Amino acid sequence: MGNELIDKYVLFRHRDVENIHQIEVYRANDGYRALEKALKEMQPGDVTNVVKASGLRGRGGAGFPAGVKWGFIPKDIYPKYVVVNADESEPGTFKDREIMTYNPHQLIEGIILTCYAVGAETAYIYGRGEFAPVFRDHLQQAVAEAYRHGYLGRNILGSEFSMELHLHLGAGAYICGEETALLSSLEGQMGQPRSRPPFPAVEGLYAKPTVINNVETLTNVPPIVLHGSDWYRQYGTEKSPGTKIFSLSGRVNKPGNYELPLGTPIRYLIEECGGGIIDGKAVKGILPAGASSAIIGPDKLDTTMDYEAMAAAGTMLGSASFIILDETVDAVWAAEKNVKFFKHESCGKCSPCREGTFWLVNVFRKLREGHGTKQDVELLETIIEQMKGNTFCLLGEFVVPGVRTSIDLFRDEYEALAVAEEETTPGPAKDLIHTFF
Ligand code: SF4
Repeated sequence: MGNELIDKYVLFRHRDVENIHQIEVYRANDGYRALEKALKEMQPGDVTNVVKASGLRGRGGAGFPAGVKWGFIPKDIYPKYVVVNADESEPGTFKDREIMTYNPHQLIEGIILTCYAVGAETAYIYGRGEFAPVFRDHLQQAVAEAYRHGYLGRNILGSEFSMELHLHLGAGAYICGEETALLSSLEGQMGQPRSRPPFPAVEGLYAKPTVINNVETLTNVPPIVLHGSDWYRQYGTEKSPGTKIFSLSGRVNKPGNYELPLGTPIRYLIEECGGGIIDGKAVKGILPAGASSAIIGPDKLDTTMDYEAMAAAGTMLGSASFIILDETVDAVWAAEKNVKFFKHESCGKCSPCREGTFWLVNVFRKLREGHGTKQDVELLETIIEQMKGNTFCLLGEFVVPGVRTSIDLFRDEYEALAVAEEETTPGPAKDLIHTFF
């Protein structure tokens, strides 16, 4: 079951066409036809316009319209760059990896089209360090094939357009998925965010205009250019068009990646695609965007998975990494796991995030080890309140909704862990913590 809502895959074409990672097979199945069409029949601005008209939104998390982003690139400043964010690190997200492994030419074609559209002659795919095998065994070979067949390099397909595509691996840091930290890392500096403005479209890589898009976003571009924006808009909703890959994990029978039209109900993803909850248990909570999202309860199962509906439900779609908690999951344990992740990944540049995550981990530990009090639950709330709106980048902000909604939805579990004040043994000093904010 699952995926009946689209007749053919738009992104996961390897699931319809065996060996599409090989360039001959890709070409025999419409591969690089969008590029041929663009170079023969379209001006660069036409490519941007069709992507704009399609309504394609960035799939890395923010959901910003891709064509609009390309339109911000200044026309008269050179060189320009296209950087592909392949630093897929959000807990529960594993979709870009599947694209790069099994359908790499569609991504490469999307990158070339993007470069043509914005006038860039150099592109980089920046991958997380853990993706070394994916780059080495799959992507690198596909790039080499594309060069051999004249889709990359000088005078592509006999046109005046030339470009180079480079692969670059980071050292494995969640923060390098933040676009300015990614650029710093790509330049060989420490992977820490930069202040904005200036935005990368104006001053990005090496202080030159730079488009940064996620792997999944650019993999949408070839079919949009080949078939047109109306074809693309047959899927999804008016404001969230197209298909999207939903990474499903947690307490479901069949975790995995599922490509569905945006606007599909969460219930369909869990029950039809994921085969329901293990042992027929009840859903307790849903994290729609991995560790970064507000948790929603089972009352939201009929919410549709698009940017607007998820925001209206009090959470976000993000990169659509749905982690499902069932009634057997300890909510405090789950929240502590996420907080530990953020503490580990905090780059340390700003104190609200660096110290906030440190103290959250300490207070969670105290509660879970049986030394906590009700005041410690309040202390968790105080810490996230002090982090909210005060961190340098979104990583610190992402810590807040998960803890906030976990306490709101499952306060009884937190308070059940808290012992009476006089029974406690010394833990993190409440007075001390206030000196850090
Ligand atoms: Fe670094 Fe601050 Fe961003 Fe945390 S919020 S990752 S410490 S810049």
